[in-house]
Amino acid sequence: MNAQVLWDLLSIPFLPPFRPSKQNSYLNARIPWQNNVHRQWWRDHGMRKNVLSVVLLYSANFQLGYDETLFNSLLALPVWNRTFNDPSGSRLGLMAAYVSFGHMLTVPVIHMLVDNLGRKRAIFLGCIISTTGGFVCTFSRTEFMFNSGRFIIGIGQPISQFGTMCLINELVHPRLRGASSALNMSSFCVGGMATVWIAFFCLRWGNSDWQWRFVTLAQNLAPITLLMGLFVTPESPRWLISQGKHDEALRILAKYHANGNTEDELVQQEFHEIAAHIQQDIDAGNVHWRNLLQSAGNRRRMLVLTLAVSGTLVLGSGIARNYSTIVLKSIGIKDPARITAINGGLGFWFTIWTSAGALSADKVGRRTLYLGSTIGMLLSLCVITGLSALFETHTNNTPIAIGVLVSFFVFTAFHQAGWTALYSLYLIEILPFSIRGKALNWTNFIQASSVLSTNFLDPIALNAIQWKYYLVFIGLEVVYLGLVWLFFVETKGGTIEQASIIFDRGNSKPASPTVSEEHKDLAIPAIQRNSINTNRQKIERLYGRYMSVSSVRGCVRPSSSSWATTMGLESIQFCGSPCGEIVQKTFVHPELAADEVAVKVTHSGLCGTDLHFVTTDMVLGHEAIGIVHSIGSDVSAVKVGDRVGWGYPNWTCGKCEWCLRGEDNYCPNWKIYGLADLEQGGLSSVSVRKEQWLFKIPESMSSEDAAPLMCGGSTVWTPLVNHVKPYHRVGIVGIGGLGHLAIQFAAKMGVEVVVFSATESKRGEALQLGAKEFYLTQNIDDYSALGITKQIDRLIICTSAKLNLGLFYPILNAQAMIFPLTASDGELTVPYFATVRNGLHISGSVIATRFMQKKALEFAARNGVHVIVERFPMTLDGVQAAMARLRDGKMRYRAVLSWNNND
Ligand SMILES: [Zn+2]
Ligand SMILES: [Zn+2]
Repeated sequence: MNAQVLWDLLSIPFLPPFRPSKQNSYLNARIPWQNNVHRQWWRDHGMRKNVLSVVLLYSANFQLGYDETLFNSLLALPVWNRTFNDPSGSRLGLMAAYVSFGHMLTVPVIHMLVDNLGRKRAIFLGCIISTTGGFVCTFSRTEFMFNSGRFIIGIGQPISQFGTMCLINELVHPRLRGASSALNMSSFCVGGMATVWIAFFCLRWGNSDWQWRFVTLAQNLAPITLLMGLFVTPESPRWLISQGKHDEALRILAKYHANGNTEDELVQQEFHEIAAHIQQDIDAGNVHWRNLLQSAGNRRRMLVLTLAVSGTLVLGSGIARNYSTIVLKSIGIKDPARITAINGGLGFWFTIWTSAGALSADKVGRRTLYLGSTIGMLLSLCVITGLSALFETHTNNTPIAIGVLVSFFVFTAFHQAGWTALYSLYLIEILPFSIRGKALNWTNFIQASSVLSTNFLDPIALNAIQWKYYLVFIGLEVVYLGLVWLFFVETKGGTIEQASIIFDRGNSKPASPTVSEEHKDLAIPAIQRNSINTNRQKIERLYGRYMSVSSVRGCVRPSSSSWATTMGLESIQFCGSPCGEIVQKTFVHPELAADEVAVKVTHSGLCGTDLHFVTTDMVLGHEAIGIVHSIGSDVSAVKVGDRVGWGYPNWTCGKCEWCLRGEDNYCPNWKIYGLADLEQGGLSSVSVRKEQWLFKIPESMSSEDAAPLMCGGSTVWTPLVNHVKPYHRVGIVGIGGLGHLAIQFAAKMGVEVVVFSATESKRGEALQLGAKEFYLTQNIDDYSALGITKQIDRLIICTSAKLNLGLFYPILNAQAMIFPLTASDGELTVPYFATVRNGLHISGSVIATRFMQKKALEFAARNGVHVIVERFPMTLDGVQAAMARLRDGKMRYRAVLSWNNND
């Protein structure tokens, strides 16, 4: 353990305690998306199937519950005691602990099985192993064989248990998630109850061996049911997406959450959310053990996880369940039939309270349940302890015995309704997918060691110091109460993805700023990259992965109403870094200022200017389109749900000379991309913009067409609309991101367009886009030899290659204007006298005023200006690939990155 990890561990207590506040509107969030299922799940075909799968998966916990009580029940059977020579004390503790030894053995591998094999295959494996163990137990002749069987069961059980815990949470309809995954714990209680009743039934068989063999045999019923259930249960959509099987995942989500409709809003949203989270996790390489302690959010998760697991098992669960017989005997109830009957009743009692807790988890809230449960347990345990102490001096006092028994029942009710009911629900939902497997490993370890300690220590301690042992638990409950109050976080409402990120709230430090080793060489390096071809295989693999997302039509459409919780303000961002590498970060936007608008980005273009900023620590991208998610109090120009776009300005002063003239694209006080608001950019999932420079996108225009118009399009539009008359001949130099738009704008304005290009192969395309003439300039030093029919009035330079402008002089008309439009450095030189003699103008021009930007969008929509785009996914890989291609000059012609492929 190195110093950093040690420090991380030590620093947990200094985290600020969680304070539930009214501002945390997430607590009151409902799932806001349109969904085509019936409100009552039993009337809905898809939901019924969903519930059936989930109920079948409960078998794993049923088996676990059965096994937990098994030992206690066997203890009550005279034949079993005889067969194994009346085990007691430490030998009894050891026999009971064999299952835990098996559990321990699976700790290192359980996440590998659940993550690599998949949930279903892991469950299958677990069932086969534990069934084997069950048979070994049933037919055992010796204590060794019996213990071995229990050991084997111990290996199989946690595999299927964690597999089903994951699968239930990942499969169930969000509306049923709270209740159904919490009810999973009720099946644990039902299992425990079943053991008791089966044992009670077997008591009739007198002296036959089958008195106990049948009880152990019946244990196999659950894993066998589970095995059958796997045939009708689908694999986890989350796991499938993590394996790149997007189509299958979407089909399953649609089938079980929306009666097969892949276009359903809820399904779309879930799919989008899962894919984004998993991609983020994959890109960040967020899967090392050390990640469990790396961020403040994760450290708190691990602490809460440890408390929740150990609390459930240690805080009297051992007393309540496994050794209720001993407890009953200690207060004078010794008749086997009465003990079994009380145990049976106890199982029923457990089930009621666990179910009650589970069903109220979504209403009352997790944190409240935990707190209430602990307080109730503490108070009733105090009563139990007091009465037990009294009973010691007043033996055979029936009222006191009844008092103890009643408080014992009250104690277990509180324990079941809180800690037990929330066990599988809370553990899963506080964990993001990336660390779920590894964290559950830890859970398994804590679970196994807690069970081991209670199974082994409790009987010995209870035998030795009787009721005084309860004082230990009173102390523990007080400690746990404080810890729960300090660290447990409310997670009710919303989807499992949203619940899992609550722990990172307010943590604006990047949660995962690292680039995974695997993808490092795809980042734009500081040194010149020779060609994207060197990475062809990787790019193809990445593209393959992306294409399988986008090939499902309309699969990840975010819609205006779908981000109705404040959780949406967490943003995934792609940023530059000092070494020139693109890195992915997570950023939580602070509250909106009065004039700010939060936009859920759907598309972002990539512009040559972005290449200049890859070495700056800032969010890249300034040609973005998105849907308004929420607005500040003074915003009136746009409303929630509007589709808007923006370019590189974010704010202008409105007071300077240039703003007053309406030429706000020259405002000296402006805040623009690269100079201000570095934490906001287009290559992100959410960006907060000033209302001022947001533009509504015309309805008929696709977002892919719109994005490049926000910077590239407006750059070529401005000189055309300001300086071109209908009778002008307009020369466009270079066909690329800017040039192919300039040709279209000019041609649609009705002027004669003449294209100059060094690439013959672009001739056809130029003419198709609207050019009248095309001249190949490659290897030509004297442009008067081009054979141009008539001189040029306006020359738009759209290539970033340094040009000798003097070359064009022979073909320019007098008073011609030249507009160099790309952002280049260095000097611009032109022939001195010819410029003077012919009255030539060389003019700068930057983007468009707000007025002209609006007109450019309207013009483009009305006249069908279409951008030729290369599509990239909005992922770390996608951004890196697009940047590499842009840098290599191979983009045809404008990159658009998108979170979906719907437009
Ligand atoms: Zn730009
Ligand atoms: Zn100004």
